[in-house]
Amino acid sequence: MLQTREVISREQLDHYIEKAAGVVDYEAGFGIKGCDLTKPIWWGVYIRQSLEEQALNSRLPDYLRTCAQEAKKLSAIVPYEYIFYDAVTGEHLERPNMIRLRRLVAERRIAGVIFPALDRLSREPIHIGIFEFEAQYVGIQLHYADAPNGSDPMSQMVRMNIASAAKFVKLANRKNAVGGNIGRVVKGSVPAHRAAYGYRYRRDAEVTPDGSVHIRSAWWEIDELGPDGRPLWGSPAWVVVQIFTWVGEQGRTFHWVAKQLNEKGIKTAEGRKWSPNTVAKIVHRECYSGSHAYNVNSRVPNPNRPLGDITAEVRRTLLRPKPQQEWVSFQIPPLVSEDLCQKARKNAIERGRGRGKQGKSIQSLLRNRLFCPRCGRPMVVRRNGHLNRVYYHCSKYFQTWAEEPCNYRRFIPGTWDELVWGDICAWLTDDAWVEQQLMSEQSQDENVGKLIRLQQLRISQARAKIAKIQEGFEGSIYNLDEAKKRITDLQETIAKAEVEIQRLQKTVRARRSSTADINATREELKALRDKNLDATTFEEKLDIVSRLGIRVYPSEDLKAMRVLCEVNLDRGNLDARIGEMKSEDIQANVESESATECGKVMFNPPVLSRL
Ligand SMILES: [Zn+2]
Repeated sequence: MLQTREVISREQLDHYIEKAAGVVDYEAGFGIKGCDLTKPIWWGVYIRQSLEEQALNSRLPDYLRTCAQEAKKLSAIVPYEYIFYDAVTGEHLERPNMIRLRRLVAERRIAGVIFPALDRLSREPIHIGIFEFEAQYVGIQLHYADAPNGSDPMSQMVRMNIASAAKFVKLANRKNAVGGNIGRVVKGSVPAHRAAYGYRYRRDAEVTPDGSVHIRSAWWEIDELGPDGRPLWGSPAWVVVQIFTWVGEQGRTFHWVAKQLNEKGIKTAEGRKWSPNTVAKIVHRECYSGSHAYNVNSRVPNPNRPLGDITAEVRRTLLRPKPQQEWVSFQIPPLVSEDLCQKARKNAIERGRGRGKQGKSIQSLLRNRLFCPRCGRPMVVRRNGHLNRVYYHCSKYFQTWAEEPCNYRRFIPGTWDELVWGDICAWLTDDAWVEQQLMSEQSQDENVGKLIRLQQLRISQARAKIAKIQEGFEGSIYNLDEAKKRITDLQETIAKAEVEIQRLQKTVRARRSSTADINATREELKALRDKNLDATTFEEKLDIVSRLGIRVYPSEDLKAMRVLCEVNLDRGNLDARIGEMKSEDIQANVESESATECGKVMFNPPVLSRL
């Protein structure tokens, strides 16, 4: 006898089998031990019932008796090992013993299979069809105690109809379960599911004479209260109250809370260690202030999950809310006040788990303007450390899973904002610098001319090469394929260069169309210069930084940084690609270097002075 879960003891099953064989007087052919299982002459028996069915009103002895009787009618010998019992749902065929049985069938190691009822095989007509088709294909007999067993179309059709009816029963059962729970809630009880962490599910029930269980009332009880009526230290209820107090009133992080609980040796409901995530789940669970709802979510299959065999279980792994009118709410004893719940949730959301998406609320001048000295990507802004300071660090540093992780691990303190701002103020008040910026603006025109000539040179070089290849091909230095490939490559180069020239010419035209630009820029820069830069707000600072197109490139040791200023006032400037190509020539740049040795970067930003 193979058994799926420890749902029923082995002794109990053995006892049932023996009894079944005895009742129908077939001890010689049912549940026989010591058969030579390498021979394909034995029959199997398959029984299934869900755990609920087994718990409430197990029909296992009756199913076994039926099977023994059918085996006797067929004069089939059923070895002990070939009595298969699954205590799972009939919605799919992904059941441990069903899988074993199907393997025996596919490998033709069995003569036939007996089912006490058609719906024990499956409640899904298609699955029955598939199973029957497999068995027919390898020539193995199937025998149902409650359905016509012929392989003629009429018998097959009747079986399909019975299976369809079974499917309706299954759907009705599921609806009844939800409906029953809703009914219980409406009558003032709690639904029959596990209570939330911090509570225990209790019920007052009686077993009616017909064997079913009648629930008079059901409720959640606080787990657990001490003699003083307050949650007992270390109990789940106590943990819930602590979590809300820590997060809501003391503004602690989930990390901190998890660490506290683990240090106190308190385990989660599953007996594991606390993690920030498990703490978050409790903070965001909407029941601890005393009001809860049933029928709020449903599970749906994840469309991105690979599907298995068509007869396998479709796993509903995603939780999705149902329409609000389907919710039913019920009351439970509150553990914390609604006010504290709100506070804790607000804190948690505001902190954005301390980092990440919500981090945009960190005021930072150099977001996307400070570049990692090793990989060159923009650094990210994060809050960190006990003092909640702001840092920049490489965006790829913590992403060890990223395709190109970066190992630059130093943190740049947020105080660099002020250093850079100080420099900007100094430049703006310096007339010579403003003039220099304007000069560089003018010289950009010349640079664009140079870039266009460079591209033209590329084109003529590529054309010359093509001509050479064609000559070489005629003098048979290349074979046809090689020549073709080289020429295609060169033609691509030419096409790219032509596109680039067009783009550059466009920028020149845009420039020339507004001759007043230089003057306007001059005015704007002067206006910025005349501003009271010390009294600017953060938003104004941010505006100036972006108008000047500030970009900061620190050195790896963080002792120096290069600040690029690409004057970027109102009109569209040359885009950044030119800056990348020859930033030294085109853009004004100012280099800052530290006067003193830079020590520990975490808390001591390097002192910078401009050269
Ligand atoms: Zn990096």
